Amino acid sequence: MKTVNQHFINGRFVDSHGQETVDIHNPATGELIGRSTYGDEVDAERAIAAAKAAFPAWSVTTLDERREYLQRLADALTERIDELAAMTVTEYGATPLFAGAIDGQARDFFLLAQDLLTPENFQETHNTATITKVPVGVAGLLTPWNGNPWFVCGKAASALAAGCTVVIKPSELSMLQAQIVMECFAKAGLPAGVINVVNGLGAVVGNTIVHSPDVQKLSFTGSTKVGKQIGRDATETMKRVTLELGGKSPTIILDDADLKNAVEFALNAGFMNTGQACIAGSRILVPESRLDEAKQALKAGVEALTIGDPIQPMVSTGHYERVQSYIRKGIEEGAELLVGGEGKPAGFEAGNYVKPTVFVGVTNDMTIAQEEIFGPVLSVITYRDDDEAVAIANDVDYGLHAYVYGEDKKRARTVANRLLAGRVMINEMVDDPTSPFGGFKMSGIGREFGLHGLQAYLETRTVYAT
Ligand code: NAD
Repeated sequence: MKTVNQHFINGRFVDSHGQETVDIHNPATGELIGRSTYGDEVDAERAIAAAKAAFPAWSVTTLDERREYLQRLADALTERIDELAAMTVTEYGATPLFAGAIDGQARDFFLLAQDLLTPENFQETHNTATITKVPVGVAGLLTPWNGNPWFVCGKAASALAAGCTVVIKPSELSMLQAQIVMECFAKAGLPAGVINVVNGLGAVVGNTIVHSPDVQKLSFTGSTKVGKQIGRDATETMKRVTLELGGKSPTIILDDADLKNAVEFALNAGFMNTGQACIAGSRILVPESRLDEAKQALKAGVEALTIGDPIQPMVSTGHYERVQSYIRKGIEEGAELLVGGEGKPAGFEAGNYVKPTVFVGVTNDMTIAQEEIFGPVLSVITYRDDDEAVAIANDVDYGLHAYVYGEDKKRARTVANRLLAGRVMINEMVDDPTSPFGGFKMSGIGREFGLHGLQAYLETRTVYAT
């Protein structure tokens, strides 16, 4: 059993001032695997003070110096990458394939950030003006549980490359993974105070970071409900915000699609990370004329999925219950259960497993078509023509992601260009952590990854001199 009772503040591990402890269970088995201590406001304030003190020196490091430190961070993670992936399996319930991929990419973020350290990304001229991009200050990084090392490292890589110092509050459901990441940060040996990590609850540690006048930037990934609150609170101290929030992404199957391939694609998009993915394609839009064919293919596809891998457990018992409540809601509101349903799959009662579930006969006004479920529960909605497909796809509060599948690529692109979504994938899953990522509408504000991600941590100063 692992114990996590320290935070990483000002270049060293320090005992938690907060004393509230919590048990950590393996979501696949229910087994007790660890105990952790939540930090409190004092821990958060100490971390913020350390980041503030470190900022003046870190903000003027040269691009070469920062490149070197980013390399050290990547190297430290490389040494522990297998251990980290194993912990992502144990603590989060991820499949080994997914854990290896996201934790590998967590490390890669530091390498990719090195490529952004070019003079032209920090200075340009316009007429007689010299436009300089300067680091915004101390950045508070608040992350969710669905691949926590990936979010922590992605945000930290951009912030550090920009010249910001950081205070990180990992998800309270990911503290064992965060411990390994913290140890890697310690090993990398950046100047004291440049990276600080405080475990704890959002309402306590997160809230202190959000309200602190000594934090100039917030990068939050999580639910829209919390993101809205953070956006409001951040205004008090005029913090810059990046908000990466929820989604209810459509997969539009066009009527010229090869249905077998299209359904396979839609199930991959929908059951990605067992639905615990902000970009999961949780609404499948099927042409009315091909519904029967689609139903057969969907049922067969879902029944072929194996519980355990790729279908992983929900991260917590609370989240399991939340997903169950949406399945009940779908039934109550009159949707037809094609496959799956309430309860746990036979033989997997000890873990937080949900039966992969597909509803048909869903109308876009139903709760299951509008709200983010964040589990393996998909809604099939029919449409008559491309205009109606686009209208249904856009008729939700969210706008994070979308998928289009069809034979005629030009037509698929025309449809894609009408979707209110930050990213659209046509006929293929693309994994590109260098092009901009973020949402329209209630899915958030701002963009992460690549140059857009770097710019989110920079202020612009214009100096005129002839
Ligand atoms: P959450 O909003 O409950 O929490 C996210 C983080 O914010 C956690 O670290 C939490 O402790 C902290 N937090 C909670 N309340 C806070 C407060 N008042 N002040 C400051 N911090 C606070 O989200 P979650 O359940 O951890 O993650 C799932 C959600 O994240 C889903 O809605 C999902 O769509 C979203 N998500 C979005 C993206 C994206 O890139 N758009 C990616 C992954 C997950």
